[in-house]
Amino acid sequence: MTEDTALATLLAATHGAGGAVTPPIVQSSLFTFDSYQDFADRMAGQTSAPVYTRVQNPTVAAFEQMMAQAEQGEAAIGFASGMAAISSTLLAFVKPGSRVACVEHVYPDAFRLMERLLRPFGVEVNYHPVSAFENNPELLAGVDIAYLESPSSNMMEVMNLPRVTEHAKRHGTLTMIDNSWAAGVFQQPLTLGVDIVLHSASKYISGHSDTVAGVVVSSHDHITRIRDLTVPLLGAKLAPFEAFLLSRGMRTLVARMRQHEATANRFVDRLSALPQVRKIRSPGPDDTPGLTGRSGLMAVEFDDSVDVPTFCDTLRHFKLGVSWGGFESLVMPARIGLAQAGEQNSMQKFGVSPNLVRLNLGLEEAEDLWGDFAAALAAASQH
Ligand SMILES: *Cc1c(COP(=O)(O)O)cnc(C)c1O
Repeated sequence: MTEDTALATLLAATHGAGGAVTPPIVQSSLFTFDSYQDFADRMAGQTSAPVYTRVQNPTVAAFEQMMAQAEQGEAAIGFASGMAAISSTLLAFVKPGSRVACVEHVYPDAFRLMERLLRPFGVEVNYHPVSAFENNPELLAGVDIAYLESPSSNMMEVMNLPRVTEHAKRHGTLTMIDNSWAAGVFQQPLTLGVDIVLHSASKYISGHSDTVAGVVVSSHDHITRIRDLTVPLLGAKLAPFEAFLLSRGMRTLVARMRQHEATANRFVDRLSALPQVRKIRSPGPDDTPGLTGRSGLMAVEFDDSVDVPTFCDTLRHFKLGVSWGGFESLVMPARIGLAQAGEQNSMQKFGVSPNLVRLNLGLEEAEDLWGDFAAALAAASQH
């Protein structure tokens, strides 16, 4: 039985048992076999029924199928977190001496993974601005992996993905992109030539600030490599219950993204009229090929008249905190990331304005959010 038919059988059985429309949570660590021969065939690779939940689980497989479809890929793998997806994917493809070209303003913990784990293992990592990936066709000569974000973290810089992947294909460079911002709804990088798409599913895919999870989508070949190597050997699996929550999130994903977009459009229209706003970082359709929407995660740079701590402390609907993609609106001031203790992060290395604040526009009433934002800005500014 293939994995797909095993899942279909399981779902059909559930339907027969009571007409359930959601995937059952198969909370079992292992799966037994009817006979010695079935067990032997499975372990010899003749069949692909689930064996052990570290590697395969029907509830997880149901979510993986949904994600493969959403990103127009051939297959997907769920992980325990976005960082597990990123590390398990990178580690499946690098070896000592590999060269990685990474976009500047990459997610801070992805930067630390490059610097603290990959580099000490002999992987060469170089960082480049978006414009260099686009305009220097020789940038990727001799580069094994291009690790991309579009838009990038905090700075929200978008990249012309068809152009960059064309350069990559000429040099035989494998391309990976973190697509958490677009959630597979506003951008499908596999259709733009990217090889591997990664997500923090903790954000829009979950959508309810109640799950930490990740997912990778790609071709059968790349997914098989990750499934054979780092899925079993690093073991950062997605749990069945989390997979159930993510499948639930997927059902409302498009509707939620439209609502985030409507609020974000309203903010962008009005932000440009505020004298304290120096720059709006909120990519949308028309800003780069293949981008079809504007998500609710944006950044705004204030001028020096604004006292950022006062702004944050005056907000009522927006809460202060990390992460994004849920119901609740959040604010994340760049100066907190810039002052973070410990190893250098990408914000410190590549520079972000201390007057930048990242906004997660949630699903609350848009006018309440705008009123809150405008009042806090007025209270915090000397204009
Ligand atoms: C949150 C985030 C991650 C990490 O995901 P976790 O689920 O927290 O491990 C990776 N990339 C981006 C862009 C993120 O915002």
